[in-house]
Amino acid sequence: MKYLKKYDYLLVGAGLFNAIIAYLAAKDGKKCLVVEKRNHIGGNVYCEDIEGINVHKYGAHIFHTKNKRIWQFMQSLTEFNHYINSPLAMYNNQLYNMPFNMNTFYQLWKTKTPAEAIAIIESQRLTVDNPRNLEEQALKLVGKDIYEKLIKGYTEKQWGKNAKELPPFIIKRIPLRFSYNNNYFDDPYQGIPIGGYNPIFRKCFASSDILLNTDFVTNSYLREKADKTIYTGMIDEYYDYCFGNLEYRSLRFEEEVLNIHSYQGNAVVNYTDSQIPYTRIIEHKYFEFGEQQKTVISKEYPDSWTKGKEPYYPINTTKNNSLYKQYESIAHKEKNLFFAGRLGEYKYNDMDQTVFNAIELYKKIN
Ligand code: FAD
Repeated sequence: MKYLKKYDYLLVGAGLFNAIIAYLAAKDGKKCLVVEKRNHIGGNVYCEDIEGINVHKYGAHIFHTKNKRIWQFMQSLTEFNHYINSPLAMYNNQLYNMPFNMNTFYQLWKTKTPAEAIAIIESQRLTVDNPRNLEEQALKLVGKDIYEKLIKGYTEKQWGKNAKELPPFIIKRIPLRFSYNNNYFDDPYQGIPIGGYNPIFRKCFASSDILLNTDFVTNSYLREKADKTIYTGMIDEYYDYCFGNLEYRSLRFEEEVLNIHSYQGNAVVNYTDSQIPYTRIIEHKYFEFGEQQKTVISKEYPDSWTKGKEPYYPINTTKNNSLYKQYESIAHKEKNLFFAGRLGEYKYNDMDQTVFNAIELYKKIN
């Protein structure tokens, strides 16, 4: 009965999506109960302080957006620094700038003008109308050298499959920049929160009650405590996999604290050789221009996903998407239960899109 309920919202998952809901709800004087199975708030955006460095525990997170309204909204939560993501790629012990731009082309071929670079790329492009797999698609888009040195090994490690066995749609386009610009993102707004991401979550959940180390699936009676539930866990798990398992790709991180000032001189270095098992090394201090005496690095290994491992990336094949649609069709019939976020909607979204979606859902259901 409504009058016995203590909370307006039960928020399953203390990640970015529900943080924004909690923030908006608190502004409207509403009360939230948050249930999180991990031992901390922040979801995959969580940082841990190691040697005074904010370590991105679940993979590097760089905030970037084209949406001015979302950027301004984020400024109301925290102050951002002027970090610009300019990753490097290591292949065969040689460094290349990313994204593919005039610096990369100079490193590959010593070309100095856009016309010279374009001529080489055109001469290497595969002329095929309908690429049958990812390899053909990439060769069609960027030609042999860029594909073989900077795309093939990285992509095969990411997906755990030979590029010839991967569908072409995985790579829709590969941006080539004919200017000397190493800024990875095209977005006008970009940065890292000063002091890391955790203060955002502390602010958003400040007036919520939080139950950590609590899995909603085994404590679903908690739903009775609120009028509305927003569930950001795995949709197939909620329905006890009744139509079958959705597939994910997982990651494994190997973290090292090094007693040196700097390991690689940059936040992100990708490793594009297939023989090196990790895809990238993150040196966390560079997100915040750190001057600490020590440094912390994380080697990122792509991993297959099985139940119990972290489901990082949905694998949106036609088969999985139609399985998701089956779950979605029963989810739509639920009253006052909303599936949201990356796992609830089985969709990869950058943080800006996650914030946007949370604001829109709150407007709709409030
Ligand atoms: P999550 O952060 O996953 O939060 C969901 C929470 O729900 C988790 O804390 C989980 O423990 C909890 N939960 C799940 N099931 C249950 C349950 N049954 N009971 C209780 N709790 C439960 N975006 C960018 O904009 N820039 C980047 O650089 C970037 N880098 C990324 C790197 C990686 C490796 C990944 C995977 C994503 C990256 N993203 C990035 C995307 C970003 O992480 C997401 O937009 C954002 O984290 C989504 O928030 P969420 O709340 O939907 O999900």
